[in-house]
Amino acid sequence: MKEIKISAPEHPLLSKLNSPCTPEHSLLSKLNSPCPPSGLTSSEIDAFWMQHAYSLADKAAQQGEVPVGAVLVLDNQLIAEGWNRSIQTHDPTAHAEMLALKRGGEKIKNYRLVDCTLYVTLEPCPMCAGALVHARVKRLVYGASDFKTGAVRSVFNLLEDMRLNHQVSIGSGVLEQVCSQQISAFFKARRQAHKENKLLAKKKS
Ligand SMILES: [Zn+2]
Repeated sequence: MKEIKISAPEHPLLSKLNSPCTPEHSLLSKLNSPCPPSGLTSSEIDAFWMQHAYSLADKAAQQGEVPVGAVLVLDNQLIAEGWNRSIQTHDPTAHAEMLALKRGGEKIKNYRLVDCTLYVTLEPCPMCAGALVHARVKRLVYGASDFKTGAVRSVFNLLEDMRLNHQVSIGSGVLEQVCSQQISAFFKARRQAHKENKLLAKKKS
């Protein structure tokens, strides 16, 4: 299969987070740190973590996986991260969120991830939304909506369902445009690669 390259789309907030250090924020030097710099507003903090999830999604795309990245945060500290690995590991459950939750549980030695926030570039599917409820995650923040299988708001609404014994508070639309462009660019490139492979096979036969 052809290698799929996704380039980061332009976005004012992303460029702010990626911009060279400025006296006000020194954001770039802090990007390697497990916590965001002080002085950010709560929406900038959300964007900071989402930007990190975005870079993990990019890693997934480079590995030929659907580009979804997730980070688990507790007290503004990075606890765990994950990116889609289903194809490589032959594991239908290896979604970015599941991997971040598993690693997070191992890290804090507790299967309950109370007070944690999970940031993910794409609205979680029913499996991952179920895992968020099981883990008692406090808050979920996602980037792009998934109108086909989204289980937070788009198709199902599992995280706020009062029939379940835990509800997760929701933040959505953080870096939505770039996250959405990232995933559509991936599928567009993949469709194109399939088309080219088909044509090539036809020529050979
Ligand atoms: Zn999922």
